[in-house]
Amino acid sequence: MFIENFKVDSPNVKYTESEIHSLYNYETTELVHENKNGTYQWTVKPKTVKYEFKTDVHVPKLGVMLVGWGGNNGSTLTGGVIANREGISWATKDKVQQANYFGSLTQASSIRVGSFNGEEIYAPFKSLLPMVNPDDIVFGGWDISKMNLADAMARARVFDIDLQKQLRPYMENMVPLPGIYDPDFIAANQGARANNVIKGTKKEQVQQIIKDMREFKEKNKVDKVVVLWTANTERYSNVIVGLNDTVENLFASLEKNEAEISPSTLYAIACILENIPFINGSPQNTFVPGLIDLAIQRNSLIGGDDFKSGQTKMKSVLVDFLVGAGIKPTSIVSYNHLGNNDGMNLSAPQTFRSKEISKSNVVDDMVASNGILYEPGEHPDHVVVIKYVPYVGDSKRAMDEYTSEIFMGGTNTIVLHNTCEDSLLAAPIILDLVLLAELSTRIQLKAETEVCLVLQF
Ligand code: NAD
Repeated sequence: MFIENFKVDSPNVKYTESEIHSLYNYETTELVHENKNGTYQWTVKPKTVKYEFKTDVHVPKLGVMLVGWGGNNGSTLTGGVIANREGISWATKDKVQQANYFGSLTQASSIRVGSFNGEEIYAPFKSLLPMVNPDDIVFGGWDISKMNLADAMARARVFDIDLQKQLRPYMENMVPLPGIYDPDFIAANQGARANNVIKGTKKEQVQQIIKDMREFKEKNKVDKVVVLWTANTERYSNVIVGLNDTVENLFASLEKNEAEISPSTLYAIACILENIPFINGSPQNTFVPGLIDLAIQRNSLIGGDDFKSGQTKMKSVLVDFLVGAGIKPTSIVSYNHLGNNDGMNLSAPQTFRSKEISKSNVVDDMVASNGILYEPGEHPDHVVVIKYVPYVGDSKRAMDEYTSEIFMGGTNTIVLHNTCEDSLLAAPIILDLVLLAELSTRIQLKAETEVCLVLQF
């Protein structure tokens, strides 16, 4: 059975006008080891960590600024939220389709809250804590292309044409602010759309982003802003001692206009200085050590490393299942082809490398978790191929072959073929990320050790 909402009645939970206070005992373990004549002896000690949570129940008016607003994800998310807010339906060749938030954990999933008369009871995920309603979000952001959002939606070729026609009046006056463009960090083939760029030194560019965020907040009368990077994948920036390894060196490099500070790092610096959450949806190393330290110093939320919306999400789930079941994946080969601008940008070796690293990392933890299946240092063969095929547009094809060793030397091969509009996978995930980032800024937690932290994820 499904219920719409609930309240918790417990000595550990206290509701006040403005806050929810809750105590939670986290049962975990502590491990210690002793070296006895060259061999380690491990001891597992159960322990309870007492957490105290304080959640501010005031739901703010939220502004979301997307870096890469005019891209496929940016225009799809903006149009999708408007369609939901306005209750738009449109004709497809099959039926009349209603706007929905399918694919969003916060908006379309449910959680089990208990049982009643022997029946399992579920409630919407979003009823857990007071969260921003996506229909109330004000969108804005930057793009190095000055195309308005209605034309950007048409360029993306994601939505049905009847829906595009209905959305156009809402979106044609939405024009991205100029973005920070550095051709050294994305593919040369992106140069043609870079007609909306911030001039000046890197320090001046950071100052401009700060000014943009303040003006956006003021103009739209929003209480809070969250920034999310859904712009082109950048190449990795070099992490160099003296350049970006500490806060001081990062700021000194900014003063010197050092070439190796990427645009995504510049946006992130601006956000941290303004205490605005910054989420990264692409696979590059935006968060260089100096930037992470700056975020810690300022207690500002940063997070994210690629959306992992389709093939990579399936890979995480499947490898977890196989290794967890005692089966040994020995070869994982992933082919992708896609025809959107993301695919074109990834056709350059440096940006592809960022994606390849991100797609390969997901199996590492599982392999490291099972010393029965894998010798130390042993790893499945893992290959990732991405090809740009303009004809398929945003409808990405992902083909994977998983080969595993099974009982008594047997071999098991699983083949997956996944076809899906990439932006329709990413947009609801972006929504979840900004809603959960906002919620996180309203939650404080204190552990038994009396160290006070702001929850980060
Ligand atoms: P897109 O190319 O359609 O959109 C990116 C936009 O960013 C473009 O409009 C471009 O002009 C703009 N841009 C580039 N550099 C910029 C800068 N420095 N400042 C401001 N704007 C800038 O790509 P997309 O399909 O929307 O994907 C966006 C990102 O999300 C890509 O990096 C992609 O790899 C990542 N991603 C997407 C998915 C998915 O779509 N399912 C999954 C994982 C990761």
